[in-house]
Amino acid sequence: MTRQPTRRPTDEVHLTDDEFSPPSSLLNLPWIDCHNHAQTLSWEDRERYSLTGCQGMVMVASGYHWTPYKPVEAEDIRFLWDDVINRRRTIERNHFFEARLAFGVHTGVPIANPDDLFAAMDEYCRAEPVVALGETGITPAQHVQSWGLDEQRTVVGTQMELAADHDLPIILHTPNKRPADQPTYRAGVGTPGYEKNTNLTQDPVLTGENPALEAVRMDIDIADEVGLTEDQIVASHADPNNVDFLLSETECYASFTLGYPWLTGVTAADVADAIDRYGPDRILVETDCANVLRTDVRSVKRAILELYRLGVDEDDIRQVVLTNPSAVFGFDY
Ligand SMILES: [Zn+2]
Repeated sequence: MTRQPTRRPTDEVHLTDDEFSPPSSLLNLPWIDCHNHAQTLSWEDRERYSLTGCQGMVMVASGYHWTPYKPVEAEDIRFLWDDVINRRRTIERNHFFEARLAFGVHTGVPIANPDDLFAAMDEYCRAEPVVALGETGITPAQHVQSWGLDEQRTVVGTQMELAADHDLPIILHTPNKRPADQPTYRAGVGTPGYEKNTNLTQDPVLTGENPALEAVRMDIDIADEVGLTEDQIVASHADPNNVDFLLSETECYASFTLGYPWLTGVTAADVADAIDRYGPDRILVETDCANVLRTDVRSVKRAILELYRLGVDEDDIRQVVLTNPSAVFGFDY
């Protein structure tokens, strides 16, 4: 034991011969955010990606929150696609990370004339910064107006066919099963932290015991039907409700959204648990940060440290935050 100059023994005496040496290399580990909507965030939010070592990201242009009009028409979605193309390069030049793109047709609201989008989507798939399609996937309940399951199947299947044709991965929006211990907020106001008029949420078109899981099962069935291989699917919003299905019954990647645990209950502990049970090969993490939600750009960086505290090896952390997303989305890290 090293001699100490203190008047009486301190904690230091008990820790100086301690074998534990926190890996400072994790402080500088680059990471990739494989699903966010950074084009909708502020300059300072995007700066936080740089400051926390985010080296690359997939900016997803698929959402109904940002369309100007409801109900939504194909032109509204085209605007979202063009907007992200318009911003991408200037974002890279300002913030130094590599920003790649994903285009998708979300099923969170019906689109009046989706065929017009699919006719154009083929061309968007050829654009150089495009690395994925999505996010999309069967949604149990829509905003403003319902969209039937048959129509949703067609919308998801057509995008999967395009992904197969262009050899691109597709990002699935898998519905979260929200934790049971959610607070009850003031009636009629909506969910604080989520800038969405929840009064406009429609009755579900998919019901049953576990519609959130059933939606994912339907997505995988559609992929199998249209010939998209499961290893081209990145199932975003992995959670305890769907992770066993995804990692034991499919070949998909499971990507954990860490940016808003107050809504989903999903944290680094779920990622550590999945790595422990299934290994790191098909696990990814993402912030899914967007302007409509209280989301945390630093959540993946924080998880890098938290995963180590939870007992995950440094190599496995690197694989989950950097090498897996790099391989899946064609970054060169
Ligand atoms: Zn998203």
